[in-house]
Amino acid sequence: MLNIAKIKNGIVIDHIKAGQGLRIFNWLGLGKAPYTVAFVVNAESKRMGRKDIIKIDNEIKIDFAVLGLIDPNITVNIIENEKVTEKIRLRLPERVENVLICRNPRCITATETYAPHIFHLVDEKTGTYRCEYCDDLRTTEDFR
Ligand SMILES: [Zn+2]
Repeated sequence: MLNIAKIKNGIVIDHIKAGQGLRIFNWLGLGKAPYTVAFVVNAESKRMGRKDIIKIDNEIKIDFAVLGLIDPNITVNIIENEKVTEKIRLRLPERVENVLICRNPRCITATETYAPHIFHLVDEKTGTYRCEYCDDLRTTEDFR
């Protein structure tokens, strides 16, 4: 394993499915970050074989509902003074607003632009969500 400097105060996003790290890196806008970010691709993992890790040396706000939607198997470690003070296990959120977009042309959200796109989790295994208004189904794969 590469030796990567410890972070002082910040966040470690661990157990990212190998190859998915860049998606999260871009979503968080880390390419433009004015603080140290370590992005490890294909790290060895006992549990997963290979995984991606993102270490952020800054206390940034992360929407855990969206992160859970991207990948519910991720672990988030909160670091204070170089020690893990909190471990957050993610899961698929029960309800998301304006994260998944309904593509049904007959849905109210297609004509009423003020209406928020609200989806409810219907199947945790497949990551399937149902539109609140038209019952159209979307999956976590539809989130970009
Ligand atoms: Zn809809």
